[in-house]
Amino acid sequence: MSDADQLERLRVIASTCTLCPLAAGRTQVVFGVGNPAADLLFVGEGPGREEDLAGEPFVGRSGKLLDRLMSEEIGLTRAECYIANVVKCRPPQNRDPAPREIEACRPYLAEQIDLIDPRVIVTLGNFATKLLLETTKGIRELRGQIFDRGRASLVPTYHPAYVLRAGGEAMAEMRADFIRAKRLMATDRP
Ligand code: URA
Repeated sequence: MSDADQLERLRVIASTCTLCPLAAGRTQVVFGVGNPAADLLFVGEGPGREEDLAGEPFVGRSGKLLDRLMSEEIGLTRAECYIANVVKCRPPQNRDPAPREIEACRPYLAEQIDLIDPRVIVTLGNFATKLLLETTKGIRELRGQIFDRGRASLVPTYHPAYVLRAGGEAMAEMRADFIRAKRLMATDRP
């Protein structure tokens, strides 16, 4: 079975997941979207209200900013990348995902990364960055750097929702991180 077929099989399995309490409140599982063989993988936190209804990650205001920076700084559309989240189901009232929910969902993201095998992973905000770098350090300390993570380079950046609030310098830093990701895509794997 091809990697793309295995990813689709994983999506179908995840669509009925009841491994954590978030299953009870969701409209649907938001597995991920994009090119199953993408060179670039974005990882966010978890679906919000709009994503829960649409079944697709980053379709709200944060998603519009993500799409814009992806296009302006990297020259790619969301269909050419892959976008996933740490947790696949919406936390109620948009609260932070709980440690037990992140732990329950972790194998799905791990398998997505294995199957997509991206050249570069861009983590959006604290939850994705801490999970994938296995660190307790915060995003302010980590962004601006490049990390090796298996066969991929990992570029931590802010969550677009934070940049929408903070604007100015945070936006410029996020753009710089996207440019870093683009440059890495043209280099050999770690
Ligand atoms: N925020 C996220 O982290 N992920 C989404 O899919 C939408 C908003």
